[in-house]
Amino acid sequence: MKPLQQLIRPNILALAPYSSARNEYAGHEAHVFLDANENPYGAPMNRYPDPLQRELKERIAQTKDVPADGIFLGNGSDEAIDLLYRCFCQPGIDNVVAIEPTYGMYRVCADINDVEYRTVLLDEQFQIKAEELLDACDEHTKLIWICSPNNPTGNSIQRDEMLKVIDGFDGLVVVDEAYSDFARQQPLRMELAKHPNLVVLNTMSKAWASAAIRLGMAFASPDIIDVFNKVKYPYNVNLLTQQQAMKILDAKADVERQLQLIMQQRSQVMTAFRQLPICQQVYPTDANFFLARVTDAQAIYNYLVKCGIIVRNRTRVQLCHNCLRITIGTRSENDELLGALRQYKN
Ligand SMILES: *Cc1c(COP(=O)(O)O)cnc(C)c1O
Repeated sequence: MKPLQQLIRPNILALAPYSSARNEYAGHEAHVFLDANENPYGAPMNRYPDPLQRELKERIAQTKDVPADGIFLGNGSDEAIDLLYRCFCQPGIDNVVAIEPTYGMYRVCADINDVEYRTVLLDEQFQIKAEELLDACDEHTKLIWICSPNNPTGNSIQRDEMLKVIDGFDGLVVVDEAYSDFARQQPLRMELAKHPNLVVLNTMSKAWASAAIRLGMAFASPDIIDVFNKVKYPYNVNLLTQQQAMKILDAKADVERQLQLIMQQRSQVMTAFRQLPICQQVYPTDANFFLARVTDAQAIYNYLVKCGIIVRNRTRVQLCHNCLRITIGTRSENDELLGALRQYKN
């Protein structure tokens, strides 16, 4: 890995960050707060929240088995994705390399930040070859994006190939593990201590049943987290979100029960889907959705919309011609989907 100073954009390296009122007193015990022009009435929402979300990070550190100073929290994973570009990629000069197909936000954020987005097509099994990703890099490549389990294909990317990419690259490798709670494969989050150029993304939006609160996280070395903290909005995670996240982390047993139900349903729905006349292939998955190739994705998508059932049509995505991406719902939602598809006439 190059020294972090060489990877960070020069303007970010030189940046004197905004120092918020709640930041400056940190480290001292205080009980009278006359520093932030808040209304003194209406606790607790009258006060600015902790800009570094320390209490929540301690809880996440325990749950995710990562050190608290190696956690960044943001307004969804999308904030961390955007920050990676803004902190490390010089617009018009630097580039990033990503697998294709994958989650669309990596490209959107590259376009917004005027950063070249290079893609390497997955193979027929939706897997990577480390050398192909490394060959696509040049001296201006700052980030490599891998998503595992991958969206929209659903499969986990082979661990040893991802580790070869991480070991073979002198910039940062971002592994988006939004769906790792549904996977059999051991998450790369557990390898962070050994790989200073690894950034792992997680979210509360999928397994943790909290898409509405907008809480995403990045796990990385404390040096990388410091860069994010310098650039992020001072109060980027609001107090309602921090409180609700603590609540859901305390209800971990409920979430684990839901995970078991979803995974049971996943295998039942996939088995039933394979029997449908419209089904050509169901791809293996390690996520809470699966990709299926059908006879006519657009027509079936339109038919399902008329039935009031929305799935994701991925037919225009590379390698996904005539594919639908189907999220696992409750048992009755899944039964409704399968019932509707059994009624479908070509
Ligand atoms: C759903 C999803 C996310 C979650 O994004 P949030 O902004 O945290 O809701 C991140 N990465 C991938 C690959 C996803 O599919």
